[in-house]
Amino acid sequence: MLGNLKPQAVDKILMLMGEFRADPRRDKIDLGVGVYRNAQGVTPIMRAVHAAEERLLQTETTKTYTALTGEPGFNAAMAELVLGQGYPADRLASVATPGGTGACRQAFELIRMASPDATIWVSDPTWPNHLSILRHLGMKVALYRYFDTETRGVDFAGMTEDLAAAQAGDVVLLHGCCHNPTGANLNLDQWERIADLLQRTGATPMIDIAYQGFGDGLEEDAAGVRLLAQRLPEMLIAASCSKNFGIYRERTGVLMALSDPAHREVTQGNLNYLNRQNYSFPPDHGARIVMTILNDPALRADWQAELEEVRLGMLALRQQLAEELRRLSGSDRFGFIAQHRGMFSRLGATPEQVEKMKKDHAIYMVGDSRINVAGLNESTVPVLARAMIEAGL
Ligand code: PMP
Repeated sequence: MLGNLKPQAVDKILMLMGEFRADPRRDKIDLGVGVYRNAQGVTPIMRAVHAAEERLLQTETTKTYTALTGEPGFNAAMAELVLGQGYPADRLASVATPGGTGACRQAFELIRMASPDATIWVSDPTWPNHLSILRHLGMKVALYRYFDTETRGVDFAGMTEDLAAAQAGDVVLLHGCCHNPTGANLNLDQWERIADLLQRTGATPMIDIAYQGFGDGLEEDAAGVRLLAQRLPEMLIAASCSKNFGIYRERTGVLMALSDPAHREVTQGNLNYLNRQNYSFPPDHGARIVMTILNDPALRADWQAELEEVRLGMLALRQQLAEELRRLSGSDRFGFIAQHRGMFSRLGATPEQVEKMKKDHAIYMVGDSRINVAGLNESTVPVLARAMIEAGL
């Protein structure tokens, strides 16, 4: 039986990680995988996470099963974090999931149950796993234009032109903030116009928010999601705690569904059903860490302060890189790097240029020229800038 299986393509980013590890050059720079690293190249455990784990060790008395929804206190705390205080609880169904990936997967399956012929509109480009999971589930996908290769900003005219063809029963997948892989984001006025468009077409938005707090701040990064939640009758939200709490391996995320209050209970039942079919009870440890932090004013303040340091650190690296490139090129054409937000920027290099930077300078980035800004530090920024200019960017 197992002899019938066909080999699967290896994930390109994981392949790049392997190549990086095998490179003997001591000054190699890894801008590939999407994990936050500090100036020492370490992915730290956040102070508040440590404190919450210590508290759990002291106070947790059982490891018996939680509910199919996950710990309700976690779901409520996440609803408040993403949707803000006073979120519409009467419209909200939610389940804890294994990470943001689990939330996306459950969202897609819920869509397939509710609207079997739905087309899922996905930004071109998007996080490759969106496409891969949708393909695995056999769902229909359409791409909408998103990235302007000239300005390296959002091609908003192209985006709205393409999305005008979305129909009721379709789903438009949007990144809540810190777009992966481009770093180019919608401004509030554009979110407003996307809400108009969704109202006009009747398509349902699905927001993937995996980097809240990495862009312009916790509240600012959620502004687009909150705007759509207010204006539209239905919406799906897949939120990840991997990055902003630094708990990648704990697999912590949540899927929220906003609907008419009359449909809330059945929606909740379907979310529970999907958890039961796929893995039964969702992981609890990370969710409990997040709930402990968000519900304790001192821990929450400390977490926010550390998250803000992380955010400002990445912003400073962006500014340093844009400035260094301005100096070396004598032009402002790299200003977009300081405009982008989040962990990633798509530089707009050709595959040959990406290859050259790897060969000549041991700088590793994804083939589409996505860099992880957090892979840099003050002393490697000038190295990257020089390599980019030498490669002819
Ligand atoms: N969505 C996007 C856009 C992402 O970049 C990621 C992380 N790479 C995720 C979802 C999911 O992350 P996780 O499953 O680790 O929480």
